Amino acid sequence: MQIPPPHRALVRLTAPRGPGYTAPVATLRVSLDRFRRPGSGPRQQSDVLTLPAGPTPLHADLSLALAADVRVRLEGDQHRVQAEVRADPDLVQPCARCLEDVHLNVHVLYQEEWWLTGDPPADLAESDGPVLHRGVTDSVVDIWDSFWQNVALELPAKVLCTEACRGLCPVCGTNRNRAECGCAAESIDPRLAVLAQWPRPKDQPPTPSR
Ligand SMILES: [Zn+2]
Ligand SMILES: [Zn+2]
Repeated sequence: MQIPPPHRALVRLTAPRGPGYTAPVATLRVSLDRFRRPGSGPRQQSDVLTLPAGPTPLHADLSLALAADVRVRLEGDQHRVQAEVRADPDLVQPCARCLEDVHLNVHVLYQEEWWLTGDPPADLAESDGPVLHRGVTDSVVDIWDSFWQNVALELPAKVLCTEACRGLCPVCGTNRNRAECGCAAESIDPRLAVLAQWPRPKDQPPTPSR
């Protein structure tokens, strides 16, 4: 099977969205077995979870150009675990004007606090700023949603190859960063172009003059 070169091929993929979307990996899951084990005292754990290159769940045009390592450091005990999640995914998305691939090197770093014996204290969840507190009853924690939410926070509102990008010619589609196409600068709005083809009204007969 021919494997396409990563960058250009991936950006053409359109991730199906909504209920039909299947993530390239089911989850980003971290095991808590080490912390659930009986005994007292603090423990640590470091995990590296790998996301494969390909579509992202954020939106159809945004892909991972390369596989990305998501590093999770855990520290805590039987009651409470502090998690730090870190990743530098290489994302790619078309320029909003010229549609050329734009690489977005995003730095993700965030913390969560997991309460293994019940819900976090109500006052704490409010007061601890950006750190998410959650009660965990399972032996694994899924960080898929929080990871992608934190990636989304790092993305620019509008993706442009350069601020000065001249975009595509609306008439012929030429990338105006690369070539001058010579189309009229003031071209007709393509939605109205059809009007130009309508027959013009016949010349009015000259008003008879006396
Ligand atoms: Zn551009
Ligand atoms: Zn043109």
